Amino acid sequence: MSGKTLAVNNALILGVKGKNKLIEGSLLIKDEFIKKISDEPFDADKVIDANKNLLIPGFINTHSHVAMSRFKGLLDDIKLSEFLEKTFKLDSQRTDEDIYNSSIMGICEMIDSGITAFADLYYSEDIIARAVEDTGIRGFLSWNTLDKKFTTQTGEPIENAENFIRSFSKRSSLITPSIGVQGIYVASDDTYLKAYEISKKYGTIIHTHLAETREEINNCMKERGKRPVEQLDSIGFLNENLLAAHTVWLNLSEVRALSKKNVSISWNSVSNEKLGVGGIPPIPEMMAQGVNVSMGTDSCGSNNSLDMFCVMKNSALSLKNSRWDPSILNADELFQMATQNGSYAVHNNSIGSIGENMLADLVLIDLGASNMFPTSGNNAVNNIIYSANPGNTQTVIVNGNVLKENFRFSKNLEKLKRKAMRYLRENFNTI
Ligand SMILES: [Zn+2]
Repeated sequence: MSGKTLAVNNALILGVKGKNKLIEGSLLIKDEFIKKISDEPFDADKVIDANKNLLIPGFINTHSHVAMSRFKGLLDDIKLSEFLEKTFKLDSQRTDEDIYNSSIMGICEMIDSGITAFADLYYSEDIIARAVEDTGIRGFLSWNTLDKKFTTQTGEPIENAENFIRSFSKRSSLITPSIGVQGIYVASDDTYLKAYEISKKYGTIIHTHLAETREEINNCMKERGKRPVEQLDSIGFLNENLLAAHTVWLNLSEVRALSKKNVSISWNSVSNEKLGVGGIPPIPEMMAQGVNVSMGTDSCGSNNSLDMFCVMKNSALSLKNSRWDPSILNADELFQMATQNGSYAVHNNSIGSIGENMLADLVLIDLGASNMFPTSGNNAVNNIIYSANPGNTQTVIVNGNVLKENFRFSKNLEKLKRKAMRYLRENFNTI
């Protein structure tokens, strides 16, 4: 077989396309794709013995601002309005090197947490794309737009977004460029519609914040006479390319509108609760209406960790508790949200599950850890959702490349991490 081959032998595999349970087997990867799944181990250029540990599809984080990694611990315990004001101020003072090195750190944290692909919303996505390329993670990068009067970007945000999409659409299979809109509090109908036009022109997703706080709803009612989802629906903005983060404050008719227009949502429970938004998205109602629900960490400013295990567990607990019903959402559904539903949200059907001819974005979970004992076919998904933590991610593969093996980053990734830490310490460590 020509091309670089990698085998992951003797694994307990979860998340195989079309199969609901754990299977025992081996995987042959050629270049970036999974070529074969078999009961028998494979020979290959490189062989990883999974040693009966748990192999899962990598998590897809559908809402992040990875470059905000440096703001960890600097924006805590304040209201969203103050949070945004401070963030916009910090954003306006950033250099490309700061954004690049902060992104490297955020990506390292995501890889440690088993995230192999992320959807990002920020300006300067060209710099973040460089961090994606250098580290080898998969990025769905949306250049953020907003009304010119609110922006800290140089030039016109819509034009910047279009230039970014044009220059990066063929650059690397790891980078999928797209456009975003910050939110209804800084974007007019005109900005939303212009962003929609760009997304249609280039066939990209549109990533936005939507219905995050009651303040957002109240101000929108005051200024435009409609709730945010109603407003966006009335201008024809809701569409199948839309990935809407938060969607906490929705009424049932808005849930139906999202369903009708095939909008995907990103549930960011940790960020929402840390910012005290006071509500939980109507997840059961969305699921009943067929809305695609995926999961996101949000940024290090509001989460503060880029930890999908924490997000999955917290999402489950907060919903079960608020509805007085532990059966309202089960571990299989939560796992699906963090994997396959993420792939629908970013419109890439080659990730999110394990199968022949799927991209090799995989995570090996250590079952020798005390917190993962006992794991069997009966409780593997439950243990991923309710017991696992980033310390359990033994090996992480993205696009057929091993980025972390046996709990250690690849040489390249370790070098990038050290360099980034050095740069950030030297330039921003005020302690
Ligand atoms: Zn956000």
